[in-house]
Amino acid sequence: KKIVIALDGYSSCGKSTTAKLVAAELGYAYIDTGAMYRAVTLYFLEHHISLTNPKEIKEALHNIDIEFHYNPKKKRNEIYLNGLNVEDEIRKMYISDKVSEVSVIAEVRRAMVSQQQKMGRKRGVVMDGRDIGTAVFPDAEVKIFMTADVDTRTKRRQDELLEKQQLVNYDEIKKNLLKRDLIDSTRAESPLRQAEDAHLLDTSHMTIDEQVEFVIERVTA
Ligand code: C5P
Repeated sequence: KKIVIALDGYSSCGKSTTAKLVAAELGYAYIDTGAMYRAVTLYFLEHHISLTNPKEIKEALHNIDIEFHYNPKKKRNEIYLNGLNVEDEIRKMYISDKVSEVSVIAEVRRAMVSQQQKMGRKRGVVMDGRDIGTAVFPDAEVKIFMTADVDTRTKRRQDELLEKQQLVNYDEIKKNLLKRDLIDSTRAESPLRQAEDAHLLDTSHMTIDEQVEFVIERVTA
């Protein structure tokens, strides 16, 4: 029987890396919900949408079309905003800087959550984010809440950016992670928190293989 696996947690503790590998192992789809909030942020910035103007926000959401398409060459799902591949653009620092402020907007969350629920309605998905086990799929069969100490997370994010030829200062990355964690966990609408029935997974001293193993064990248990 196919299930929903919800992977929530703080920024940069290995959610997407783990989710991708778990999905591949089970033959499930992987859905990166953070990418969706990042794509909305890109659109808002490009179109100078005021974050305090409900009418502008509503209209913008109406004009935003988000899709995932599998890229066989890179063996990954990539995100498209209104038909354009924005997978690389949305990972840049100027998006990371703004995304949490866009994600607090209730209208934005409503639109994203409803699309995520549609994408997972046939089950057989691994979804990573901040509110999957609490708001998007409260009935997910397996819920994992990931965390890691902030220096481990900063180092990982820096290495990830470096792989994409983006040199970003360590302190700038650390500041961004802490800022996002704070906004994400204190917002009114479905704040980041561990669901009561989620397994806590601290990845500070774990290899990727061990993280994947941890999730797979909970699936087959
Ligand atoms: O997962 P990622 O770090 O790419 O997410 C970027 C941001 O998107 C988070 O810091 C958070 O503000 C927002 N987000 C969210 N709910 C989700 C996924 C991401 O609010 N389910």
